[in-house]
Amino acid sequence: MIEVKEMKETIATANSVFAQVTDMKHEQVVFCYDHETGLKAIIAIHNTNLGPALGGTRMWMYQNENDALTDVLRLSRGMTYKAAISGLNLGGGKAVIIGDSKKDKTEALFRKFGQYVNSLSGRYITAEDVGTSTKDMEYISKETKHVTGLPESMGGSGDPSPVTAYGVYMGMKASAKEVWGNDSLSGKKVCVQGAGHVGSNLVKHLTEEGAKVYVTDINKDALQQVATTYKAEVVAPDSIFSLDVDIYAPCALGATLNTENIGKLKCAIVSGAANNQLADEVVHSKMLLDKGILWAPDFLINAGGLINVYSELKKFSRAEALKQTEHIYNVTLEIFKKSKAEKIPTLVAAMQMAEKRIYGGK
Ligand code: NAD
Repeated sequence: MIEVKEMKETIATANSVFAQVTDMKHEQVVFCYDHETGLKAIIAIHNTNLGPALGGTRMWMYQNENDALTDVLRLSRGMTYKAAISGLNLGGGKAVIIGDSKKDKTEALFRKFGQYVNSLSGRYITAEDVGTSTKDMEYISKETKHVTGLPESMGGSGDPSPVTAYGVYMGMKASAKEVWGNDSLSGKKVCVQGAGHVGSNLVKHLTEEGAKVYVTDINKDALQQVATTYKAEVVAPDSIFSLDVDIYAPCALGATLNTENIGKLKCAIVSGAANNQLADEVVHSKMLLDKGILWAPDFLINAGGLINVYSELKKFSRAEALKQTEHIYNVTLEIFKKSKAEKIPTLVAAMQMAEKRIYGGK
């Protein structure tokens, strides 16, 4: 017989999962476990009003299971908004595999995960994310057709980063137009945080247009490579927030903007690729507005990668994906217009615009 105390604990745990799911309005959350391969994964389908839920599979050594759940719920909801604001007929989903991507990867593990994806009959379509690669997607594809981000040799759309960087560049130009009445970045001082896949491609666009680029990264080799190739000036990672620049472009990790460093910022625009840049969406979107710093919503301007994956599903070319990504420029301007007219943070304006598509009819 279950002790009363045990029963209460069971109900409390169940409530806390459902509390989160209800709060963010998820449709379905699937917990996947396989004894043979050691697979422990969570697939979260946030919303399928506009189409199948698409989003990558992240492999990460979470501190605890609750962190994994919180991450997959937050990320899948973000995908719904990203797809909606980009005009794509996709819903939002995401998956996490709990494990060390350097030690725990096996073909069997990914194939088992692929079977779970397949069991959802296309309600969820997976792709690469932090900790997973095109090779892993190949293993998954042996078990399901509901996978994207395959190598180009297998008909996939290839590395999404150049398309993502192009979208960020479009969002930055729209921001310049809003602030200075002209979208030229020539002569503007831009600090790019993160010289990785997206950051390096962004630096290329910026230097080609004649911007003065400052770049930083904790990986010295990547930093040096980008600085040398594009003649950008290297700055220390912890000095960037007080740097005298026109634009700050976060292209490293999320949550880099917080109460302390927003106070230090001297730039007029924040526009970058990183997901979830604001440590607290409500507090920090308002803080940026009050400080007169224009923030280009991350989930809109970094949607080029998703558009690239969409091109794989819909079988259109990279040239067409870039053309669709260019549209980010106009949508960014529309959001700024709404934000200004209604005196609301750009984040709120963007979310409202996305919600109109998600919940206001298909
Ligand atoms: P990446 O891993 O290639 O590059 C990130 C770089 O940031 C790395 O070189 C890393 O060393 C650096 N970095 C980490 N912490 C740092 C710090 N504190 N200061 C300075 N540099 C730091 O990743 P990426 O593919 O270029 O993506 C960059 C960001 O954009 C991520 O937040 C990612 O989630 C987001 N994003 C990427 C894509 C895409 O197509 N790759 C699409 C949408 C969003």
